[in-house]
This record gives sequence, structure tokens and C-alpha cells, in this order.
Amino acid sequence: MNRSANILDTGIEYLKGVGPMRADLLKKELQIFTYEGLLMQFPFRYVDKTQFVRIGDLNPESTDVQVRGILRRVETLGEGTKKRLVATLRDESGAMELIWFRGINWIEKNLHVGGEYVVYGRVNEFNGNFNIPHPEVEQILPDAEAKAAQTFAPVYPSTEKLNLRGIDHKVRRRMMQDLLDKFSEENLPEMLPSDLVQKLNIPSHYQAIRHIHFPKTEQELGAARHRLKFEELFFLQLKILQTKRTRKGQIRGFAFGTIGENFNTFYHEHLPFQLTNAQKKVLREIRRDLSVGVQMNRLLQGDVGSGKTIVAFMTMLMAIDNGFQASLMAPTEILAQQHYIGISEFAEKIGLKVAFLSGTVKGKKRKEVLEELKNGTTNIVIGTHALIEDPVEFLNLGLSITDEQHRFGVEQRAKLWRKNEKGPPHILVMTATPIPRTLAMTLYGDLDVSVIDELPPGRKEIITVHRLETQRLRVYGFMKEEIAKGRQVYVVYPLIEESETLDLKNLMAGYESLSVDFPMPDYQISVVHGKMKPAEKEAEMQRFIRKETQIMIATTVIEVGVNVPNASLMVIENTERFGLSQLHQLRGRVGRGADQSFCILMSGYKLSSDARERIKTMCDTTDGFKISEADLRLRGPGNMEGTQQSGMLNLKIADLAKDGAILQVAREIAEDILEIDPNLQNVENSGLYKKMEMMSQSGRVWSKIS
Ligand code: ADP
Ligand code: MG
Repeated sequence: MNRSANILDTGIEYLKGVGPMRADLLKKELQIFTYEGLLMQFPFRYVDKTQFVRIGDLNPESTDVQVRGILRRVETLGEGTKKRLVATLRDESGAMELIWFRGINWIEKNLHVGGEYVVYGRVNEFNGNFNIPHPEVEQILPDAEAKAAQTFAPVYPSTEKLNLRGIDHKVRRRMMQDLLDKFSEENLPEMLPSDLVQKLNIPSHYQAIRHIHFPKTEQELGAARHRLKFEELFFLQLKILQTKRTRKGQIRGFAFGTIGENFNTFYHEHLPFQLTNAQKKVLREIRRDLSVGVQMNRLLQGDVGSGKTIVAFMTMLMAIDNGFQASLMAPTEILAQQHYIGISEFAEKIGLKVAFLSGTVKGKKRKEVLEELKNGTTNIVIGTHALIEDPVEFLNLGLSITDEQHRFGVEQRAKLWRKNEKGPPHILVMTATPIPRTLAMTLYGDLDVSVIDELPPGRKEIITVHRLETQRLRVYGFMKEEIAKGRQVYVVYPLIEESETLDLKNLMAGYESLSVDFPMPDYQISVVHGKMKPAEKEAEMQRFIRKETQIMIATTVIEVGVNVPNASLMVIENTERFGLSQLHQLRGRVGRGADQSFCILMSGYKLSSDARERIKTMCDTTDGFKISEADLRLRGPGNMEGTQQSGMLNLKIADLAKDGAILQVAREIAEDILEIDPNLQNVENSGLYKKMEMMSQSGRVWSKIS
């Protein structure tokens, strides 16, 4: 076993034909350091070596082709930057040129006039003649004929520098062959239980590695890919689920045994509306977590407007009834303040003390807030990340809630754990960004997940339409009608940091066009953008909230959390520049009151197919989960909001947007195995045990996720 660990860890400089210089390049250019690194860099495509095109059959539609012929003439033409190496390749049907602009000396040395070559590359047409710039060329030597029998040749990720220094596809393939020759079923052993391999009818790990690099048939390649995707997702799930089990088994939590006076009084006398069934279900799930004496780590997903705040508040009551304090942390000042206002309204009714803390709370006030948290006078504190800073001490923090969780880093959240010396508070993470199941299982696979999948009754679906620039006047007319009915309107402009000035110009142009070209004399406009001071922004927001203004023109600063139920129309400008989840968040700002609400997506006429798809999705559905699935399809998992900081998405072969079905199976099997053998002590699971040990050592900080 040790031998196998050693051989995988061998530095690539020890591989035949590599040596220190090439090794250095591979390290710098591709971050490949060891045999394992090389072995685990899979081809991103394959060249079909079974198909040859006759030179005489080349036509303007030809793209990537493989031709076979005799090399006729090799010469260097031109001077300076125009200097190029040109070779002629001839088969029985005609001749074509092969051209190199770089690496000329090295290439020339390796071309043998009169030799037979297989040439592969992308065809160019020039004056009715065909050529291939920088082709892959391989001389057919008598003894190599057998080796060339492979049908698919792998193509690996590469860089210009590697190509220039002669580490081209051909060289990489040869390296790979040499490397694979060092491995066998013995030193590249199966880690999965043999039962499972049989049951799933998949190739062994060793076979799969061989076949992913040098497949002989499509079937072989398909099976290898499937196997490697499965194992990647399976090991990840096994690790995540094991971490979750360990935590549940080991990390004690405060047991909130009683449902007490605060909860009961609020529930029976002050509840402002009837809870939806989804809210009740989630509260029951939370209640169960809190009562068993194990730290709760729960993710609460619920679309915008689904009513997470009341759930958060009632959870706080469970903590307070058991003698604990509760905190709620939001990512922005505005959102924190809105929570503060909302929660204070509830809390007042039953005489609880709520405090607000952010960077803007200073001096005497700040001192007072800190003191009352420490001496326990304050039951609930709401604020920004200022809450996790060092000087904030609690008498007895029992529950930490964070809203819009993806804006907080893992480290930041971990700090909350340390805010009570007697033990970690229970953690509830709320997010309004629905996460596709496949992502949730990976990113938050170690958390328990609750979903509020039902909106409060009486909500009308927001009517969403797509309008072009040419229809602007009609859009303004519609705006006017809505305002005449007493409603308010958002007009939103994109904000992209690199072009902030341009965006500001757009926004101000929009303001001009509304106030000059299409004046609505009786109405006032608020403007909010990123260049304003926080206090100015706040003042403009407040004017809109107080209905002193009817139109709010803003960059995306209003994205999160603002609650103005009287606003019934949102016009989004340059829609094509927004991502799907952002559009969904924005649209959630309307439809909060009883009126029928509308969202108008403005765009130019020319749209990329992705932008078209995004706009269509928005017009078709208001279901946040459907939207997030579409987002994942369009953008891929690495670019989804909230995933950037997660090393867990550095998957080598599996793709969370496409491999949901494999992931599902992997997770279920991992669950079954841990159910029977939680510590992986059984003989058949010894490979899994080893694999988990290796993953723990590889430096990912599993325990800190949540
Ligand atoms: P979010 O999940 O986006 O944070 P909120 O908690 O802000 O949603 O709730 C959105 C609105 O719906 C608020 O005005 C809130 O008072 C209202 N609301 C929440 N739950 C219910 C319910 N069960 N019945 C009626 N209205 C509700
Ligand atoms: Mg909210």
C-alpha cells in the first residue's frame, strides 16, 4: 500500500523524457508536480484517429482534419515577423501546405523530407489552396505502426509556452503512455468496495484511468468517464456526510427544552397573520433540532417574500425562553436595519429588548449596546458583520442567525461559534437565493436543509414582460398609469464595478429622459447609486419608503432586502447585463403588497443566446428554484453566486450542472454505507477509510464549513 502512495507522489521530473527543465515548465504552466497530478489531468477532447481525409477532398467547410501523406519540401520563407516555415504534404489526391510561425528551428530539425506523416489540425483556405497552421505532425515509423492503432488520441490542456518548448500533444501523449506503463491494478488500487463496483457494473479505478487517457472505443470512454465522475462525487459526499455525522455526534449544543412564555404569548396573541404550512413545517424542524442537545446547523431556504423573518423571530423566542440571547446578522446596513425595524415591531409586543449594532453605531450608543449584550439586558441583537468583531461579548448567546448567507465567508461564520464560552450557539443560515439541489448537496451537504416552498396566501404572480428600446415610450406611459393609481416604481440600472462611471452615466441619462423627455410633473424621483455617501443613499431610500417620491432610480444597491409593499412596478434597464439570480432577487422587490405587480425587462435588440435564455426564463417563471436550475445550466457551478469561495467545486471531471443523477446515486450510496458502518471499520470499506484519511490530509478545512 505504501508503495502505491509513493509512486503517485513521485515528482514528474523522474518520468522518462521529462527531466528537470520540462518538469519545471509543467509545474509552472499546468501546476502538475507529481505522477498523480499528471495522471489526474484528463484529456479535454480526443482526436479521432480512425478518420483520414484525402487532401483532394478538402473543401471550405473542412475544420479539424487528419491527413496522411509524404512530406515533400520544407523551407523557411520571409523575414523578421513574417518569417515562417512551410512544408508541403502530398497524398495520392493532391498537396497542401503546413505552416509554422513560431518554434521554427526546433520544428525544422524534426521534419524529414520524404518521410510519411500523419498530420492533424485546423484547415485554412487561402486563394483556393488549403493549409494547416501549426499542425500536429507525427512521422509514421515502421515499428510505430502498431502503436498508432489506437483510435482516439487524447488532447490535454496546454499553454503556448509548453508548445513552444516542444511539449506538444504528441509529447504529452508519449509521456502519458510511459506513465501509464508504470501502473497496474496493484499500485493503482480500487478504493471502492468490490461489491459496489460489481453492483454498479463499472470499470475498476485502474481501468477507468487507462481508458480515459487512451480509449479504444466510445463505449470504453463513456464507461471510464462515468466511473470517474461517480467516484469523484461519491468520495466528496462520503466526506461531507461523515463530517456531518461526526459533528452531530460530538458537538454538544444547548438543549432548548421548553417552549415558554414568550413563544406562547406571541403565538397565541400577537401573530400578525396565520403561518403558512411551510412556515409551520420549518418551525417544527427547527424545534426538533434545538431540543436534542446537539448543535443545530440548518440552512433555511425560502424564496424572496416567503416569510423567513417571522420564522427567524420565533426561533429566537425559543432561545430566549430558555434563558439565552439571539443574534441576527445581515450582509448590509440597509438590510440589517430593515430586519431591526421588522423584528422590533414583533418584539415590542412581548416586551423583549432588541439592539442594533453596525459600524455606524458609535460612541456612547455603541458602548451602551455592548454593555447590555454583556450583562444580558438585551435579548436580541441585529446587525452587520460588526457583530462578530472581537469586542462584542454576550452574556449567553444561544442562537446565531445569518441572513443572505452567501455574502459571509466561512471564516466569518466560524467566529460566531466562539461567542459563547459554554458552547457553540445554534446556527441558522437563511438564504433567499435558492440553490439547485445538486449544489446544495455539495456546498451545504453537511447542513440540514429546510425549505419554505410556499408563499403567503393572496400573492399575485408578478407579470413579467420583455420590451425593447423602441417601446420605451409605451413603457413610460405604463409607468405613469401605475403611479396615477397611487403605486410606486423602481427603475434599475446595472452596476459593474469596472465601469462604474459608465453606469452612472447610464443612470443619469435615464433620469434625464424621465424628467425631461417624459416629464411627470406631479411626481418626484429618488436617485440612489454607488457613488453616493451612505447617509445620502439612506435619505433617498427613506424618501421613497415614506412615499414622498414615486419613482426610485437605482443601481443594484436595492437588490437585497428593501421592503416597500406599495411598489408594484419594476423596470430593469440593460437586462442583458444582469445574471439570472440577480434578476430574480431584484424582481422580488415588487409583488410584496396586495396589488398586481409587474416587471418589465428592457433590452437592446441584439442579444446573445444566453441573454435571450435568461430573459425568457424570467418571463416564464417566478419559481426561484427553477430559475436557479437555469442559472446553473447557463453559467456552470463555479460561477454561481455563493460558490466562488468554495474549494469543493474544484471538481476534476464531474459537472454539477449535468451530473445531478450521478450525484444523487453517489449520495444515497454514501448514506447507506455510513448507516451500516459509520466509521468505515469493516473490511470491505478499508479502501474508503484510507481515501477519507487522504482527503483529510489534503488540507481542505472540512470542519469549518457552515
Ligand atoms: P423573506 O423570506 O423574503 O425574508 P419576509 O419575511 O420579509 O420574507 O416576508 C415577506 C412579507 O410577507 C412580509 O411583509 C411579511 O409580513 C409577510 N408574511 C410573512 N409570512 C406571512 C404569512 N404567513 N401570511 C401573510 N403574510 C406573511
Ligand atoms: Mg428577508
